Amino acid sequence: MAKVGIPRALFYYDYFPLWQAFFEALGHQVMVSDATNKGILEDGIKRAVDETCLPVKLYMGHVQNLRDRVDYLFIPRLVSLEEKHFSCPKFIGLPDMVRGCVPNLPPILDVLVDLTDNKKLTRSSLLELGKLLGASPAQVGGAYQAGLQAHRSYRARLKQGWSHEEGIRGSRPETLAEPENLLRVALLSHPYNICDSWASNNLMGKLKRMGAAVTTADALSLGYLRQKANTLSEQIYWTFEKKLAGAAMHYLETREVDGIILVMAFECGPDSLVTELIEREVRDKLPVMTLCMDEHTGEAGIMTRLEAFVDMIVRQKSRQEAAAAKEWAEA
Ligand code: SF4
Repeated sequence: MAKVGIPRALFYYDYFPLWQAFFEALGHQVMVSDATNKGILEDGIKRAVDETCLPVKLYMGHVQNLRDRVDYLFIPRLVSLEEKHFSCPKFIGLPDMVRGCVPNLPPILDVLVDLTDNKKLTRSSLLELGKLLGASPAQVGGAYQAGLQAHRSYRARLKQGWSHEEGIRGSRPETLAEPENLLRVALLSHPYNICDSWASNNLMGKLKRMGAAVTTADALSLGYLRQKANTLSEQIYWTFEKKLAGAAMHYLETREVDGIILVMAFECGPDSLVTELIEREVRDKLPVMTLCMDEHTGEAGIMTRLEAFVDMIVRQKSRQEAAAAKEWAEA
């Protein structure tokens, strides 16, 4: 039995249950890096190239946190997750970046995932990985099915409103019924920007303490999000960003939320284009704000912007309710 390390960063929040079930079905132990802390961030900053975005810097810190405790590191090369769409270039080059930045690594299991026109290559890459771990093609096929099953259950939990952490853990505390007039905010971002409470300055927790119910794009189905994103005037060819744009279009149409907060990492090319596109569509119709994060982002600055945003939507909501009551009284 080998120890396979999975960094608690980047696409961990999208695919961890799948990978965990896959490796465990093959009889291996999965180990995850510690929750982000100051040391992990400092290691990441030291290891990564200066111009890289904060999520990739954090990834390097998580790799360093794991490297001496595992036999292998699992770092897939996510080229494309659906036809005619691509991942961010940093996802595509991640195994190479890690090899170049973090010394003394155990062997890296870098499976290629390219579902655009290399499906056969993806399959053989998975079989190659199985061979390295001493598994037959049939065992790899069975483990893959177990992974898919775990992934489907995870996605179903997210759609029921579970947080990513609860979904990964597979349990959630009893929740009380929400008051009807609760403020609702959609926090739209890559899960790694908002689910890592240390790196995000606990954005979700802060919003909840201000009395807001928070929802994310993962509460909606992926097929539906793609469909909504296709209603935009510009086509988006990045899978993850398309999901965010689809969610923004959904909330704009349904008004299920009182405001949208977009969170992006400084130095992120795909997000800077897509958040601009979303803001253009949404502003003037629904309150929207973009928060740009990097390793220097301070808690006080975030608090000030969140408080101002929440205050603005509370006042706007009260004005709308007062106008509706007046209209009803005069009718
Ligand atoms: S999508 Fe943006 S934040 Fe994510 S890895 Fe790529 S550049 Fe970094």
